[in-house]
Amino acid sequence: MPVDLNTSLPHSARIYDFLLGGKDNFDADRKAAAEIVKQSPSLPISMRANRDYLARAGRFLAADLGIRQFLDIGTGLPTSPNLHEVVQGVDPAARIVYVDNDPIVLVHARALLTSSAEGSTAYLDADLRDTDTILASPEVAALDFSRPIAISLVAILQFITDEAEAYRIIDALLERLVPGSALAISTVTAHNEQAVLGAKAYTARGIPAKPRTDDEVRRLFRDLDLVDPGVTLVSRWRPAGPVPDDFHVQMSGGVAVKR
Ligand code: SAH
Repeated sequence: MPVDLNTSLPHSARIYDFLLGGKDNFDADRKAAAEIVKQSPSLPISMRANRDYLARAGRFLAADLGIRQFLDIGTGLPTSPNLHEVVQGVDPAARIVYVDNDPIVLVHARALLTSSAEGSTAYLDADLRDTDTILASPEVAALDFSRPIAISLVAILQFITDEAEAYRIIDALLERLVPGSALAISTVTAHNEQAVLGAKAYTARGIPAKPRTDDEVRRLFRDLDLVDPGVTLVSRWRPAGPVPDDFHVQMSGGVAVKR
């Protein structure tokens, strides 16, 4: 069946791709991106900081926590380094399941399916809200639930604007995970005026988005144990080098471990 890309409407994956300098976007996405950036000029710097956080968090989950199985929901368009490249750089046997609901990510998923021979990557076209579908899918069922799994929800939860719904999703995903499993989250922060304006600009273009305070982000981790430094701007989460000015960074997050 041909994939319907619905190119007349802006999509979050393609706006993000455009602002990261990618080519997998259309007029409607570029137009929306330009208008959102008027409200939020630092957005490209912020998105880069978020992508760098994803790589550092992935390395931490694999190298420091020793996790070898990953469920990454809201994967986005392939942008090197992708999560499997990061974690298979730590252990080539690492297994990754990617999930996204944007048809253009599905079209480009082949670029995510470049696993090392020892490990595996899989791609699932599904909505984060359909937790039963995700957990029952053959891709996810193939993971070993008797061993730790890391779930990454990186730059996606701002699109789940209802707290009760966000908690339901996260609780459902965490329920079957064994102790030692982990959750990585980044999402739009309410502490930054540009971030709030940016979220409003997304919402005005048919993509409802919600900024959250650090306390609200902390609650998304449910009863898991946050590792140092807790919930912080993504740029300040275990930085590996110089960090951009806080003013530019519109996402906060962290990593937590299941007891
Ligand atoms: N995690 C990547 C990409 C973030 S962009 C990174 O941080 O670099 C957000 C992604 O979430 C987009 O690819 C978008 O298609 C996806 N997304 C948004 N809402 C979703 C939903 N309800 N279910 C699944 N994916 C969703």
